[in-house]
Amino acid sequence: MGPGLGLYLHLPFCPARCPYCDFNAKTYDHGEARRLLAGLAVHLERIAPRAQGRRLATVYVGGGTPAMLPAAALAGLLGQIERRVGLEPGAEVSLEANPGALSTIKLAHLRQAGFNRLSLGAQSFSPELLHTLGRRHSPYDTMRAVKTARSAGFANLNLDLIYGLPGQSLAMATADLMAALELEPEHLSLYELTLSPDTPFGRRYRPGKHPLPSEDQLADMEQAGRELIQAAGLKRYEVSNYARPGYECRHNQATWLGGEYLALGPGAHGHLAGVRWAYLSDPTAYCQLVEAGGEPLAMREELSQEERALELILLGLRTVRGVELAPLAVLRGANPRRVYAGPLEELRRRGWARISQGRLIPSEAGLAMADAAAGLFA
Ligand code: SF4
Repeated sequence: MGPGLGLYLHLPFCPARCPYCDFNAKTYDHGEARRLLAGLAVHLERIAPRAQGRRLATVYVGGGTPAMLPAAALAGLLGQIERRVGLEPGAEVSLEANPGALSTIKLAHLRQAGFNRLSLGAQSFSPELLHTLGRRHSPYDTMRAVKTARSAGFANLNLDLIYGLPGQSLAMATADLMAALELEPEHLSLYELTLSPDTPFGRRYRPGKHPLPSEDQLADMEQAGRELIQAAGLKRYEVSNYARPGYECRHNQATWLGGEYLALGPGAHGHLAGVRWAYLSDPTAYCQLVEAGGEPLAMREELSQEERALELILLGLRTVRGVELAPLAVLRGANPRRVYAGPLEELRRRGWARISQGRLIPSEAGLAMADAAAGLFA
């Protein structure tokens, strides 16, 4: 049995725009948020039949900073999802949040409403680096948010951290991780800073050039981070993701396995039966189309069997589980060892992946080179 059906809901509002961020996020506007909440209710009703009677195994509310919306609004949205589509018993319901401005009352309300996994954007525990990142919270806010979330009943917490920051040394990156691990999260995501050309960071900094760490320093930070996290009992299951056994993010895992998920909200992506689509990223344009009775599509593509197989390979090479060969054989109608003989041999030669018990399993080196490994199949 494959992973169950998921739903990704995107709420694109943030208190302010961080200078490194290239997500679909914008500064909160009360009128726009109200209009979007009304639009989401209408759109949800329209897309619910696509579940074809299946209930949701996972819901992931991302952004933006979705938790900055009032708890009543978020609880209302989840209630509508439950009524229109339905949730499986024990469904994973994740919410992204930033550490500042999370009160005990708010988190208790959210927990009671059915959110059972909280993902906190800690990013760093250095006040200077948080300032550089344009974050509005302090390390103390993160510590307090974890405590508050625990007392509100959240037993499944993720912390996001970024390394490779301007002026960050190996010792600073290590200190960040130790501070995060002291909070005993069930899940930790450790991302390298990426520079997008359309952001203030992208215009200000050059990869590998002062004050950003060099390639070697980045590799040292990643390795030290990985060792520290694993020593704390969290296992790596994707290039950037670690969890205590049983706390892997089921929603994200399903998407990496080529699973199906509905989409809701500006810029949200969905996948059903080999069809991928994305909605318009601007909330106003999204709402206008929904209100006019239309489908606010920005993109829709039907993947060929070959493209679906390739996607499974590219996503699977980023995970410790690797790529299952049997579905590739079905999609390609041939033995994948023959179809992909060239890239498979190259992966083996470089020590990036090996085939074992019907799976193509990446090595540590292969995970570190996941993009290049995927490139061999292009
Ligand atoms: S809080 Fe997150 S989503 Fe919002 S602007 Fe900052 S990095 Fe982007």
